[in-house]
Amino acid sequence: MRAAVLFESPGTLRIEDVSVGQVGPREVLVRVAATGLCHSDLHHLTSTYMALPMVPGHEASGVVEAVGVDVSYLAVGDHVVAACRGFCGVCEWCLSGRPVLCERAGMRRGVDEPPRLYLQDGRGCSQMGGLSTFAEQILVHENSLVRIDKDIPLDRAALLGCGVVTGIGAVLRTAQVPAGANVAVVGCGGVGLNCIQGALLAGANRIIAIDIDDDKLQLAKAFGATDVINSSVHDAVQHVLELLPGSGGVEYSFEAIGRRETCELAFALLRKGGTATVIGVYDGNIELPGMRLLEERRIQGSMFGSVDFRRDMRFYLDLYRDGRLKLDELISERISLDEISAGFDRLARGEVTRSVVLFPN
Ligand SMILES: [Zn+2]
Ligand SMILES: [Zn+2]
Repeated sequence: MRAAVLFESPGTLRIEDVSVGQVGPREVLVRVAATGLCHSDLHHLTSTYMALPMVPGHEASGVVEAVGVDVSYLAVGDHVVAACRGFCGVCEWCLSGRPVLCERAGMRRGVDEPPRLYLQDGRGCSQMGGLSTFAEQILVHENSLVRIDKDIPLDRAALLGCGVVTGIGAVLRTAQVPAGANVAVVGCGGVGLNCIQGALLAGANRIIAIDIDDDKLQLAKAFGATDVINSSVHDAVQHVLELLPGSGGVEYSFEAIGRRETCELAFALLRKGGTATVIGVYDGNIELPGMRLLEERRIQGSMFGSVDFRRDMRFYLDLYRDGRLKLDELISERISLDEISAGFDRLARGEVTRSVVLFPN
């Protein structure tokens, strides 16, 4: 089958013929229908901690083609969304309702087992998130998949695998924003827009979107932002204080970029007792004024929106059917696998919300 392979980082993807191994007892072979280009994939193209070669991609939908002998959850023909944090179901974290922190997240094969993917020269290929969705097929553990109803269009369903749950989950699950709270979202790319629609679902009062790009702020309004601030023109902290007179800041802020300054800004926007949730991936240090912690401000991380895929997916699908979840509006372009590098160039330049690769069946 054809797949986009990363051989070096920094580097670009090459379309290669990749072989898929035997389907293991609890594994499932899925024909990929659609896969989204995410910022986390872009990180791997510029620097990666994973063994190369690797097939990136961790947000996809598809149709089950084959199941292993011990698979009970799925059958051939089922429509599925790939979950980027496949869970084991038996560790302390899974059993305490936090599968996103699973000890075996990704449900990869063991180091002593043959790889699921290998190149024509026999070399094994790493799987991103235990998935590697930039490919015509994925071979994954059954706990990396969620079955969905067949009436949901697969290109839109693919977005539920990462971007949508990361943004909405950070608001509803990680921060648990209550109705009436004032919320600020720093960064209005794919994840930030989903924070905004999460805040709308939570019944937030003011939803303040902050970005440096006016087009993104325009989109933020369409997703539910009540106010927008271009932080390249205005002092965001000052502007929030003017929008919310006498408040001292927002109760909840979200950082959806992954930069030092924006993490620090998210914290600076908080009133006393407020909570900043950092979603963006930033591997450096941040600096916070200690005295502001004294007033019970908090800062916390959020991983994939604290999602429990098999619990949350029905909720998201029902919201979409009811017209309360915007998925169509998140897709900026539909491209082929051969156009994937150009798609990443546009993502790096901030020109697209989500590019989705479609595979002809
Ligand atoms: Zn992602
Ligand atoms: Zn587990």
